[in-house]
Amino acid sequence: PVVTRFAPSPTGFLHIGGARTALFNWLYARGRGGKFLLRIEDTDRARSTPEATQAILDGMAWLGLDHDGEIVSQFDNAERHAAVAMDLLAAGKAYKCFATQEEISAFREAARAEGRSTLYRSPWRDVAPDEHPDAPYVVRIKAPQNGETIIHDQVQGDVNIRNDQLDDMVLLRSDGTPVYMLAVVVDDHDMGVTHVIRGDDHLNNAARQMMIYNALGWDVPVWAHIPLIHGPDGKKLSKRHGALGAQEYQVMGYPAAGMRNYLARLGWSHGDDEFFTDAQAKEWFDLSGIGKSPARFDTKKLENLCGQHIACADDAALRQEAEAFRVVSGQPALTASQSHMFETAMYCVKERAKTFPELFEKAHFALTERPITPDEKAAKSLDDVSRGILRELTPQLQNASWDRENLEATLNAFAHSKDTKFGKLAGPLRAALAGKSVTPSVFDMMLVLGPEETCARLNDAAD
Ligand code: GLU
Repeated sequence: PVVTRFAPSPTGFLHIGGARTALFNWLYARGRGGKFLLRIEDTDRARSTPEATQAILDGMAWLGLDHDGEIVSQFDNAERHAAVAMDLLAAGKAYKCFATQEEISAFREAARAEGRSTLYRSPWRDVAPDEHPDAPYVVRIKAPQNGETIIHDQVQGDVNIRNDQLDDMVLLRSDGTPVYMLAVVVDDHDMGVTHVIRGDDHLNNAARQMMIYNALGWDVPVWAHIPLIHGPDGKKLSKRHGALGAQEYQVMGYPAAGMRNYLARLGWSHGDDEFFTDAQAKEWFDLSGIGKSPARFDTKKLENLCGQHIACADDAALRQEAEAFRVVSGQPALTASQSHMFETAMYCVKERAKTFPELFEKAHFALTERPITPDEKAAKSLDDVSRGILRELTPQLQNASWDRENLEATLNAFAHSKDTKFGKLAGPLRAALAGKSVTPSVFDMMLVLGPEETCARLNDAAD
């Protein structure tokens, strides 16, 4: 069975790149009946904060990336990591190194002066334990000294590293604490992780982690190192490209489904498919579709996909998510009646809205209450003549049967009787019903508002 994991370091918000890594791991597991685990890599005590952990959890919750099992704290496993290092020591795959910082620096300086590799070669590698001094030591792994290490990466292909470029890395520091590289290997092994999908900034670590796997005789997981995300200019994504935190997109009002779709396409492709559902993404996602070159973040594409997801979303679910957006973006909650009107209007406002702010803008007519104050542009279409026309129209609507066909027929006949076209009436009607010049169709607004409210707004405007 497939087991993937997301292993963020809790030192800040959930970065767009991290969100994509989490999504890829989630899709891979969910599409294969596997498990998606979450491990917080909190071994760097100085930089890890509970707030950052919470921000990462919030970001994942927003994106709907649910994980299986308990959240694993890497720091909590420190004793286990140290025990594994001691096992390697006992098995002769690691050794105690008593070199002092000064000795190591002196080694490096001499190597530099003589033009040799500055990789530290400890004189303690082959010293028998009965010759050990009673002094502080670190535990170092015995790195292979010749040949090469080959990483079979699912994205990058085979990556060969000459073993003479690997040093006897430290596994346990002199205070007995395990190093990060050991922690990752032990945790991935203990958690039963079968597939590691992560940023290619970890590719170099993979060679050193491989060394630890080999020393332990453990199976190496399938590795897929994905290229980092770049900005539209092809440079590494940074603050000057705009928002970097996944949740900033939530606050801007992008729907989670659109964001998921977009992030899935960021570095992965399935033929020419751009728009897809979660179910399709889970079914289609695979490692062979991950590109070798960095994907560029493209806000237009994100908006386009978000628009399509809003357009096809379920009305009630969309209302709920849009209302949640109001809360996270610090806007007042809707009243119960606004909430009801919003959902009633949803069918005609979700068509071309790319974000929740746009959705609310289109739904303004349904959320606002009488008296309607027209904006400057709308006010212009409410001149004396058109107010007179609205005054005549209202009685004809009062007894009309309230369905689209009849409303269209009534308004067209009325326009005809005034020797004009319905189009000429639209401006004043929009101004009266919504206070705006750009609105959903007049008929949709009438149907959503109902006869009483429609006639009341028309009367107000005609006054
Ligand atoms: N904690 C690492 C990071 O946040 C990820 C390590 C891994 O995926 O192996 O970049």
